[in-house]
Amino acid sequence: MAKTYDVVVIGGGPAGYVAAIRCAQLGMETACVEKWINFKGDPALGGTCLNVGCIPSKTLLESSEEYHHLLEGLDSHGIHVEGVRLDLDKMMGRKEDIVLQLTNGISALFKANGVEWLKGHGKLLADRQVEITAHDGSVDVVNADHVIIATGSKPIDIGSAPVNNIEGLIVNSTGALSFHEVPKTLGVIGAGVIGLELGSVWNRLGSKVIMFEAVDEFLALADQQIARDAFRQFKKLGLDIRLGARVTATEKTPDGVKVSFKDKDGDHEITVDKLLVSVGRRPNTDNVAAPEAELLFDERGYIHVDDDCETSLPGVYAIGDVVRGPMLAHKGSEEGVMVAENLAGKHGHLNYDAIPWVIYTNPEIAWVGKTEQALKTEGIPYKVGTFPFSANGRAKAMEAAAGMVKMLAHAQTDELLGCHIIGPFASELIQEAVLAMEFHASSEDLARTIHAHPTLYEAMHEAALSVHGHAIHKINT
Ligand code: FAD
Ligand code: NAD
Repeated sequence: MAKTYDVVVIGGGPAGYVAAIRCAQLGMETACVEKWINFKGDPALGGTCLNVGCIPSKTLLESSEEYHHLLEGLDSHGIHVEGVRLDLDKMMGRKEDIVLQLTNGISALFKANGVEWLKGHGKLLADRQVEITAHDGSVDVVNADHVIIATGSKPIDIGSAPVNNIEGLIVNSTGALSFHEVPKTLGVIGAGVIGLELGSVWNRLGSKVIMFEAVDEFLALADQQIARDAFRQFKKLGLDIRLGARVTATEKTPDGVKVSFKDKDGDHEITVDKLLVSVGRRPNTDNVAAPEAELLFDERGYIHVDDDCETSLPGVYAIGDVVRGPMLAHKGSEEGVMVAENLAGKHGHLNYDAIPWVIYTNPEIAWVGKTEQALKTEGIPYKVGTFPFSANGRAKAMEAAAGMVKMLAHAQTDELLGCHIIGPFASELIQEAVLAMEFHASSEDLARTIHAHPTLYEAMHEAALSVHGHAIHKINT
């Protein structure tokens, strides 16, 4: 007879594995179906994020920043370094070690919490049955009182640049995380988050990076004042970002890849050693549900869910990249916790208005809440406070004084509506604003909070003070 679980989670990425662990912590008998095979040929948990996403990309961003800093960031401190040598194999080996440590860590957490890992492809059948096809082809079926689908996302392909990670000439993010040598020239289609992060890695390691972005607006989701500043700073670092440039064809040549593209000045061709395609990701719903399950998808192919992540089928939930909302690991994880807690009769909750975004470039970009352009469009009255890192002692000491903090508060209630940062450790600083927004704090609450000196956080304090024209370390206008 088929085994019955309280909960079966399909997908063991940051949405699915967190949901499974939280369900088990809350006393539910839980299994997680996961099919990932890692670079060593072994089954692995952790999904895109741990295997080929957040973790390997941040590892290479750190390594490449160390290298670049040694080469170019120390002269101004009066430190002259010679004989710096790049060992790319070792750098890649370190990345792989970190990925293995963390993915093995999830499997240890499963054991410790009593989550059963069912290795293979999971498919939802009718009546909350789940079919598991193991890697050896054997098929099993289990029953579940509740099913949580967390099958993630995959890169969008475009016909003009077909990806082949094995061949390694035209690649997606997975291929660009594993080049065996530094390409002399790297073309990047799409100047979004992945393009900028992986473009930065290879730019720092010595590649000439040329980015083809189809739309005229840079980082359309970000606050446009911050995006304009970012564009200037990335150009200075050597990223050649071409806006309004649409790639029409690619051709493999003995010299690499010939990229044909169109912009406002006409048709052009550039040959690059390697080409990264990073034009977005789409929900991964391949063979996730049998037709008789009658799972409902929305018009863009995401699994349709309500505010509590319940699908059209009672007792079946979906979370993470496979449902609406930003494709971010922490968003999926929090949805997993919310669903688990609701299943246990608690009050799971996720504030979609306070999800932080971070782009791990140098300078980093981070934001939470509304952009200035969104407030204008929505007709919400607001006040702006800004503070430049050039007036922050700690940032000066770090030789990282480019960028600013920008806070947006409601003109009448003073509630913090958004915070946008470009500058050092923006990824860490943003959390102060996230917390403030969770507690519906006002800019005055932040302004009246003591911030240690000298820290980067003082820029957050001064931006909050500046909302009402009270900044101390800049001239208020
Ligand atoms: P996934 O992580 O994609 O996991 C889904 C899992 O389901 C996979 O393991 C897959 O094998 C499994 N699966 C799919 N179908 C089945 C099936 N039928 N049966 C069994 N198993 C199945 N986000 C951030 O927040 N911060 C970052 O810094 C960041 N960096 C990124 C860098 C890169 C290069 C990329 C590509 C993404 C990055 N992301 C980042 C996005 C982040 O990786 C995703 O938002 C996150 O992984 C989504 O989690 P998930 O659990 O929904 O899906
Ligand atoms: P993206 O949506 O961030 O950027 C894609 C870019 O490609 C856009 O600027 C878009 O205008 C452009 N584009 C689309 N079609 C094009 C075409 N045919 N030619 C040229 N440009 C084109 O997508 P991504 O960079 O692929 O990343 C996917 C998602 O992964 C992100 O949206 C994010 O949710 C997640 N991610 C997050 C992080 C992070 O949190 N730091 C890092 C990497 C990825």
